[in-house]
Amino acid sequence: MMLPGVGDAGQARLRKASVAVVGCGALGCTIADLLTRAGVGSITLIDRDIVEWSNLQRQSLFDERDSNEGLPKVVAAQRRLHAVNGEVSIDPRCADLHSGTIDDLLAGARVIFDGTDNFPTRYLLNDFAVRDSVPLFYGGVVGWRGMAMAILPGMGPCLRCAFDEPPPLGSAPTCDTAGVAGAAVAIVASVQVAEGLKVLLGHEARVNPTLLDFDLFENTRRRLTFAPRPDCPCCVHRRFDHALAPPETGAALCGQNAVHLPGAAHCDLARAAETLRATCDVRLLPFMLRATPNESTFGDPLDFTLFADGRMIVRGTTNIEAARAIRARYLGG
Ligand SMILES: [Zn+2]
Repeated sequence: MMLPGVGDAGQARLRKASVAVVGCGALGCTIADLLTRAGVGSITLIDRDIVEWSNLQRQSLFDERDSNEGLPKVVAAQRRLHAVNGEVSIDPRCADLHSGTIDDLLAGARVIFDGTDNFPTRYLLNDFAVRDSVPLFYGGVVGWRGMAMAILPGMGPCLRCAFDEPPPLGSAPTCDTAGVAGAAVAIVASVQVAEGLKVLLGHEARVNPTLLDFDLFENTRRRLTFAPRPDCPCCVHRRFDHALAPPETGAALCGQNAVHLPGAAHCDLARAAETLRATCDVRLLPFMLRATPNESTFGDPLDFTLFADGRMIVRGTTNIEAARAIRARYLGG
């Protein structure tokens, strides 16, 4: 309440606010922690994954007990956040956010915080935010590098003004192929939350609608200013390609302990193989690649086959969500 721009009235505004945090990994944990301590009244946490030991290096709401219990991230996060501030209402949604569920999961959110680990979900969030005019705070961290950008629909550029299309499947490093520095997470989440709080407090004019891009290892820091693109398919032409795409499902392959995931886009297999070699044993064949992760975190031994049209077969599970999580983890999509 002592802070400029807050005061008694601002604190009361925060207490009445409802927000959504999409993804409860490294960014989502730090974002939710900051929001809870700031006294934001209602927080919906959305994540489909469970806590694993390898998360603890950067996912600040979890501890060894949570990973031993194999709790869903949103449940472990709720337990922790409730202990921090019992007056904040936490709604844990252990669910996959896609075009078929997004309207339900994000209903009522005044602002949305992006804590996702994959591009299809980010572009879907951007479509939703622009369509329904909900401020979105984009964030991403891989390795020592982080990015954050505030998207205020109608007041500045959207994600597609900055990057028209998501990178092709397997072309960009993911947190599971390149690691994530916890220190980089803290900066990105702080920027996202500070900008989000300004909106909740009624100080939209103070939000900086630029892209912050930094690398803590290389000591580089840039602020990129984008004008809204005059031909942006999303915020100018209001074409919501990602929100309109049917929810991608998958199918368990009968009797094979494997799941087939349909392809969404063409995949450069040679490039994907290069990215995957850091964490998997990879065999590149004509039209496909086979990868066996060096460390399986899903219990069963597993491997996956990726085809040039983006289709994927994940062996070692019959659970479609687990297969999708594996694809997001290793290929970012
Ligand atoms: Zn745009």
